[in-house]
Amino acid sequence: MVNFALMRLYEDSYKQKGLRRQLVETIRQKGITDENVLTAIGNIPRHYFLDTAFEGIAYEDRAFPIGEGQTISQPYTVAYQSQLLELKPYEKVLEIGTGSAYQACVLGELKVNLFTIERQKKLFDKVKLFPFKTKYSTIKFFYGDGYEGLPTYAPFDKVLVTAAAPQIPEKLLQQMKVGGKMVIPVGGQDVQRMLRITKMSDTEFDQEMFDNFSFVPMLAGKNS
Ligand code: SAH
Repeated sequence: MVNFALMRLYEDSYKQKGLRRQLVETIRQKGITDENVLTAIGNIPRHYFLDTAFEGIAYEDRAFPIGEGQTISQPYTVAYQSQLLELKPYEKVLEIGTGSAYQACVLGELKVNLFTIERQKKLFDKVKLFPFKTKYSTIKFFYGDGYEGLPTYAPFDKVLVTAAAPQIPEKLLQQMKVGGKMVIPVGGQDVQRMLRITKMSDTEFDQEMFDNFSFVPMLAGKNS
């Protein structure tokens, strides 16, 4: 028997589509220039990723709580990190911090082959039951500790960390291809600097620094 009380109706209205177009213009004005990234943001109903209580404000350019003390990143931040990754279709990408899977679906729109890890079991289980993600057959979801990466599937063309790292995790550097790039916010609890690391050889890395952001912390170990 189907329990209709537990079912949520996912509807993308004209109003929501309109608000989404405005959101795309807002982040364009803030400096995002990658048209593929902007199109991806424009294609994804962000209100699907939030509790119904937030539906009315889902297209404001800000982070929102998703439970377990975690957040869905601000659309500008999602676009910023996606743009820095300079993604090409079919690249192998590792994301640390699935959260709501919003960023993952943006990467799905960009047609990359995505492996995404979440350490919070409750968030991982919630995403497993989230119907919208089935639109992207190229995303694989893992429950685990992002500090370990996914050695079985390495090496990756690109690595994206969506939580604040106190320093660059060594194992993630090892799991990059030579020529590959990692985008990661590094710093203390309140503020982090967005870094882009390029692997020049097995032992040499180039580092570029971008703007400051504020992410939830990247924590070690799994949480059941
Ligand atoms: N990309 C997400 C943003 C989530 S916030 C989105 O679009 O919604 C950061 C997420 O990283 C949280 O869900 C948090 O639980 C997760 N996280 C923190 N440390 C982690 C780790 N070591 N491994 C995997 N996930 C981690």
